[in-house]
Amino acid sequence: MKRESIYKRYKPAFKSQCASNIPSYWFIFNDSKLLINTNYNLPFTDNLKELSIIPIRTIYLGTLEDHPVYAAEVAEDTKTPESFSFEDLRSLYEFLDEDIYLLAGRAIQIINWDKNHEFCGKCGAFTVTADHEMAKVCPECGHMNFPRISPAVITAIVKNGKLLMAKHSYGGYNRYSLIAGFVEAGETLEEAVMRETEEEVGIKVKNIKYFSSQPWPYPHSLMLGFTAEYDSGEIKVDEKEILDAKWFAPDEIELPPSKMSIASELITWFIEKYSE
Ligand SMILES: [Zn+2]
Repeated sequence: MKRESIYKRYKPAFKSQCASNIPSYWFIFNDSKLLINTNYNLPFTDNLKELSIIPIRTIYLGTLEDHPVYAAEVAEDTKTPESFSFEDLRSLYEFLDEDIYLLAGRAIQIINWDKNHEFCGKCGAFTVTADHEMAKVCPECGHMNFPRISPAVITAIVKNGKLLMAKHSYGGYNRYSLIAGFVEAGETLEEAVMRETEEEVGIKVKNIKYFSSQPWPYPHSLMLGFTAEYDSGEIKVDEKEILDAKWFAPDEIELPPSKMSIASELITWFIEKYSE
């Protein structure tokens, strides 16, 4: 599947060069939910007050087709404007253009980062937002903070034409998924793949190859997809975090319900490659 780029129509910037009277695109969040109208369009206006919206936080993101674009947060008790609703970002994947969906992911991550870095983590003073890069700077001690991205690896592991999938105890959903986990300090991506696989299912893998990546703003991950081959060992699970794991032939696999995730891309890759 070809992914659309966030930069198809969007140019990042940190300080607005636009006149204040041209209409802007607004990514407005209430408790991580995005304001969208019944036609799945963003608010597009030069005057937010028309929608009776007063943000408690506003961050300039750059331009979208030469119009300013902003991320904003409103108070939880904000009244939803008529013909709009606040929707969970994941639920909007199928309804937004992919580049807009990606930009919404950038917007919510930057809003959350801004909110969580109002004070310097080193000395506790109020921080200020830099105007030449996405950074919060402490005027007292000079400490700088940038939006945090947490890389995570997800791997399609194949043995004799079968794919390894595991059933996790968390999330409450009763389905098998690929082996995945966060990259830890000091390790390479390949080492993260090897460690996670050994921790979760007790086997060793080889021929680890990069597949593709996907921003995953829930809340601030970057998913890095890999393929790998079984090397050695027997499947062994802890039955607490991982309830079960087994090898699946292509015709035994049910695709994840949404096409939005890299997991779904990896599984589709496996089915296409190994189906006879
Ligand atoms: Zn400081």
